[in-house]
Amino acid sequence: MNAHLDNILKRVEKPARYIGGELNSANKPIKPDMLRFCFAFPDTYEIGMSYLGMQILYHILNKEEHIFCERTFCPGLDMEQLLREENMPLFTLETKTPVREMDFLGFTLQYELSFTNVLNILDLSGLPLRRQDRDDSCPIVIAGGPCAYNPEPLADIVDIFLVGDGEVLLPQLFGEYRLSQAAGESREDFYKRAVKLQGVYIPKFYEPVYGEDGQIIRVDKLYEEAPDRILRAILPELESAEFPVNPIVPFIETVHDRAVVETFRGCTRGCRFCQAGMIYRPVRERSMMRIQELAEKQLANTGHEELSLLSLSTSDYSRFEELAGGLMSMCKNSNVSLSLPSLRLDSFSFKVLEEIQGYKKSGLTFAPEAGSQRLRDVINKGITEEDIYHAVEQALELGWKNIKLYFMSGLPEETFEDLDGICRIAADIVEMNRNINGKGRFNVTVSVSNFVPKAHTPFQWMAQDSAEQFREKHFHLKDQLRPMRGVTFNYHSTETSVLEAVFARGDRRTGKALIRAFELGCKFDGWTEHFKYSTWMQAFEETGVDKDFYTVRERSYEEILPWDIIDSGISKAFLIAENERAKKAETTQDCRKGCVGCGMNQHVPCEMEGING
Ligand code: SF4
Repeated sequence: MNAHLDNILKRVEKPARYIGGELNSANKPIKPDMLRFCFAFPDTYEIGMSYLGMQILYHILNKEEHIFCERTFCPGLDMEQLLREENMPLFTLETKTPVREMDFLGFTLQYELSFTNVLNILDLSGLPLRRQDRDDSCPIVIAGGPCAYNPEPLADIVDIFLVGDGEVLLPQLFGEYRLSQAAGESREDFYKRAVKLQGVYIPKFYEPVYGEDGQIIRVDKLYEEAPDRILRAILPELESAEFPVNPIVPFIETVHDRAVVETFRGCTRGCRFCQAGMIYRPVRERSMMRIQELAEKQLANTGHEELSLLSLSTSDYSRFEELAGGLMSMCKNSNVSLSLPSLRLDSFSFKVLEEIQGYKKSGLTFAPEAGSQRLRDVINKGITEEDIYHAVEQALELGWKNIKLYFMSGLPEETFEDLDGICRIAADIVEMNRNINGKGRFNVTVSVSNFVPKAHTPFQWMAQDSAEQFREKHFHLKDQLRPMRGVTFNYHSTETSVLEAVFARGDRRTGKALIRAFELGCKFDGWTEHFKYSTWMQAFEETGVDKDFYTVRERSYEEILPWDIIDSGISKAFLIAENERAKKAETTQDCRKGCVGCGMNQHVPCEMEGING
């Protein structure tokens, strides 16, 4: 295979995507009883290698002598063409073993628009797309990540879904597999063992039954001992959890070339549109000492010249000022630049930003999400107009020349007055700058994304705007914002948001359209240049999948939702109560001020509960 591969690699644009052998990548002698696992990221190498979850799991699994975790990514179109022409199967980067020869093939599902790439990886590996067409000689196909919280669109494709923290799930699943192998069990026996693990969903053990109106009437269990609902696996605390101090360092530039330390997991704020804010609860923090130690070791072991922190909201770390101070002096001493994403813009953050960015001020980012206080209360954003203007004023006084504002359109309860609010905020900021700095170079960028209702959020029942409504709203904004001097306006494609919405709340039947779209040539749907909306429409039509049923339809609280089988730990009663509060524009406090009863503490202690109460 290697000589053949060498020949192919000479003809592709970026051979380094496929050769492996990077600093800190695993290199193990292969033993006959070793469990071989291929971790597949359904996008390009550059995107996948910037994903911390892969580095964490790769590190944890390869510490085990009897497990070899290797990697594969979605090849670029040039490489794919050559693989197909030369009849060469997709392989792992570490040993160039065909993926088909692995015991397990595992996908991380980070976004719905990568689903066709999952199919492409299966196809390029020579594996049938549907699980029922694969036999026991094929690897067991597993999948995790945020999209596994609504696994149904991929339920005919994936054998086992892992819902929850991968650090807990993968070692447990592989432990069961070894026991099952040692006992000489069949694959079916292994599934029956695995289904008893918390967080394991095996779709072949369940069959949804639909009514005439297309809604699910019930889900039949095909194996009596399979659980009624799958409670996600939860890492109880982060402090003692494994974290890589020697992550792989790619040979080529990736999206993020830097050392990264996860400071905490989860979020207490409760934005009602945000899936991550719900499904990763509760907040679990690493200690400051541990964060610093991990950062120092990672920098030493990688030679990276930039350090970044990862969490859902950097400045929500409970001792953020001390942490930032410590890291700033550490980075200064070692000539490393520090990047602190998603800061809450208070006076302390400005002090930090001044220190770490100095004269090289990149754009300053705010995410008010909605243009009026009423709508920000509907979504429980917890930011006031005063917060925005106060932060902008400080930024302008400190010399920022680029302000980026992120909003969403199509939010529940949104009116055109709310959209006018977006324009007013942009105009006010331009005016503020003129008053503070006079004329001169200055720009406000307004970026508008489209609201996609997500499973396991308070808005999971809500209708998405139709493509026409989105277009009307975009034109409304464009008419006002484009003529404004000093304002740049961007908005997301309506078509991709529609597709994302179908699969975010799709049921098992939508998988048919997915497979058909792939057969018709769809892949890399998240890439504007590759996205083929009309082909998708053809796939929906040919498979009888009505996209509107999944996008623009409001669900009742009584309807059985395709993802009800998954228990995120947050109670349905809480999600309903939050949706009802949204309708009245009533806010709910951050649970650092006191528990608001989401139900998570029934499963695991909440260490941040009421710390600011
Ligand atoms: S149980 Fe209470 S403290 Fe814990 S995450 Fe939910 S709301 Fe917050």
